[in-house]
Amino acid sequence: MRLVLLGPPGAGKGTQARALATLWGIPQVSSGDLLRTVVREDSELGREAASYMDRGQLVPDELVLKLIDERLRKKDARKGFILDGFPRNVMQAEALAKGLDKAGLKLDKAVAVIVPDEEIVKRISGRRTCAKCNAMYHVAFEPPKKPGVCDKCGGELYQREDDAEETVRERLKVFAEATRPLLDYYGRLGLLEQVDGVGRTDDVEKRILSAVNGVAPPPN
Ligand code: AMP
Repeated sequence: MRLVLLGPPGAGKGTQARALATLWGIPQVSSGDLLRTVVREDSELGREAASYMDRGQLVPDELVLKLIDERLRKKDARKGFILDGFPRNVMQAEALAKGLDKAGLKLDKAVAVIVPDEEIVKRISGRRTCAKCNAMYHVAFEPPKKPGVCDKCGGELYQREDDAEETVRERLKVFAEATRPLLDYYGRLGLLEQVDGVGRTDDVEKRILSAVNGVAPPPN
């Protein structure tokens, strides 16, 4: 299964991508996580990436494409992958298609998770992320058992700098301008499925599973 998960920030792509990755035994590949790893290394490149991310802007395609290319070449991605947060614009989508084509591969589906803007602002302001394993929580809707501590790995939970309300609104604007055109792009290729991203996490997961029905391997 080679799947792209599309959707605005806070649509639940990360949570869904992780759940599906576990179900299908393939990796979740998140460009945001790859970039945050680079930022943590405190290099010149990391500082440059952070200057875009902190403002809610897209990081230049060149860096993102390099990180994704390196990640998809790893052995665990041979069986398939779930792309989360990539591609973010048509240029990235075309580069992905070209790279896959070279390897004799193609995408199976692009699933867009649809959530209204106001719901997103509400969700993101309460979001907390694990510094160690990137698991996500929400202070009201999905709190960890112990405040500030990850249930899965015991890592520290923090609020991402770009989850502040003003930055979220900028990220939504960037989504509308740069990323939404991908719905048409994948629609024209006959790969697009749209699912309602409002509701319980497991209900949204069921909707995604039914959208990719026929392509997905049976659960283990
Ligand atoms: P995310 O974790 O997917 O919400 O991404 C967080 C931030 O990382 C975004 O607001 C962008 O600044 C940057 N980013 C993530 N993925 C991409 C991408 N595919 N292209 C450009 N910038 C990205």
